[in-house]
Amino acid sequence: MTPPPKYEVAVVGAGPAGSTAAVYAARLGHRVALLDAGGGRHEAVARVHNLIGVSPETSGAELADLTVEQLIGYGVDFFPDAVTGVERVATDPSRFAVTADRADLRAERVVLATGFTDVEPDVSGLEQFAGRGVHYCVHCDAYTLGDHPVFVLGHDDHAANVAMLLLNVTADVDLLLDGADPEWSDDTARQVEAHPLDVVETPAEAPVPEAPTEGDEWLRGLRFEDGSVREYAGGFAVYGRSYNHDLARELGCELHEDGAVTVDEDRRTSVEGVYAAGDLTHGQNQTTIALGDGAYAGIAVHRDLRTFPVADELAEVPEAPAMADDLRARMRRVNDRGMTVGMTPDRDVHHVREGDDD
Ligand SMILES: Cc1cc2nc3c(=O)[nH]c(=O)nc-3n(C[C@H](O)[C@H](O)[C@H](O)COP(=O)(O)OP(=O)(O)OC[C@H]3O[C@@H](n4cnc5c(N)ncnc54)[C@H](O)[C@@H]3O)c2cc1C
Repeated sequence: MTPPPKYEVAVVGAGPAGSTAAVYAARLGHRVALLDAGGGRHEAVARVHNLIGVSPETSGAELADLTVEQLIGYGVDFFPDAVTGVERVATDPSRFAVTADRADLRAERVVLATGFTDVEPDVSGLEQFAGRGVHYCVHCDAYTLGDHPVFVLGHDDHAANVAMLLLNVTADVDLLLDGADPEWSDDTARQVEAHPLDVVETPAEAPVPEAPTEGDEWLRGLRFEDGSVREYAGGFAVYGRSYNHDLARELGCELHEDGAVTVDEDRRTSVEGVYAAGDLTHGQNQTTIALGDGAYAGIAVHRDLRTFPVADELAEVPEAPAMADDLRARMRRVNDRGMTVGMTPDRDVHHVREGDDD
């Protein structure tokens, strides 16, 4: 049987955080595998905002496609595959066994960047408007809804706070309880009362699309159970999140009370050799912040793995350069061709790589 391929770094999750960790590790000379199940938050972004220099007409999915192409150009092996387990190899505790639906590999370091899943509102059909009228990121999308009627679906302190925040950009904010009793504190109740919000108790029944066609239409309003229809430019669903932390938990990584993975300033988790970045950890949950997190993790992995400078007490200094021959050959080709974006990969997307025998 072919032995599982060996990598220095396995990155789980190819959103902005994982992909950035992968690009840093690859360009710092390491052999990297990147595995992604598909369907993360980045992919749901219809128009990416606050990413300077990038047109807001660009979607997260477009950026993700381009990113994978770039990463393959740098020699990263990309596995479009859901990781089902990561564990330390019993016979070789310096490595982790990474098992996916169709791949099985070994890595010296693991970066977890699996993000979280937004809890969707319980309004039938509304989920198809995620990113196209139903938003989850106030800092990204409040601006696009400014001076228009907007809604906030939710009934806790956070939802009420988001509704009040939106009053900074529009005077027309409905807080939709969707048939639930408010779960906010007395303080929040007083604030809600004092602010010019319309608190709507009647449950929303169905989305009203901009046109009765299949495809990419945006939300234009909501129909309520009493038959009324309210027009909206869009709104926010505020029902919390579910962290995709199973792999981290099984590895024994420390978690915050809400389920986010605890990391230090270099994005190291409490388990040696395991890093975490992006929405999976505590933070502001923005693309830009996930990108920065990934950079921290990629650099920290490099600092932990690199050969040079060797520790003073080592009698024998290894041969330089330390970077593997094939990765250096690729680096030369990339530099010689001046390739940056959309680099021609030397090989196709890999599901399984030939096993190394060293
Ligand atoms: C609708 C919407 C619009 C947004 N708009 C903006 C915006 O305009 N600007 C902005 O700055 N931010 C925006 N955000 C926030 C931004 O998308 C996130 O903060 C960012 O994507 C987080 O990046 P991440 O890499 O941590 O996680 P994600 O982007 O969620 O990526 C996680 C990846 O991990 C993968 N994964 C999970 N589990 C596994 C597994 N077991 N095996 C393999 N792969 C796995 C998933 O498939 C996914 O690709 C928006 C979010 C949403 C939901």
